[in-house]
Amino acid sequence: MKTKAHQEDDGARDAFLAAAVGLWPVAKGSLTQTRSPCARKNCKECASGRKHPKLIFTFREEGRLRGLYVRPPQEKLLRRAIANGRELERMMTAAGRGLVIALRGEAEG
Ligand SMILES: [Zn+2]
Repeated sequence: MKTKAHQEDDGARDAFLAAAVGLWPVAKGSLTQTRSPCARKNCKECASGRKHPKLIFTFREEGRLRGLYVRPPQEKLLRRAIANGRELERMMTAAGRGLVIALRGEAEG
């Protein structure tokens, strides 16, 4: 037989997993717009100093800051993945707080 605390834990887990299912794709990092020169000869944009816009996805991997070039058509999807990642982190923070409060109640009850 499950205790009341265990039933509450199952409910919290089910609610978390149900919400997490909708958070795909997921990513952790940020998008930065930069400008870089191209390889073409006599490029007017580069000669003028404007160069070319480039979108970089920056993220940390094992403590190291890394960056990957993102093609313009992929920007929208990546922005959604980053937003999903932030929501998932918010959910994890709330779950941790809930866990400690539930454990405290179990020890006292
Ligand atoms: Zn150029």
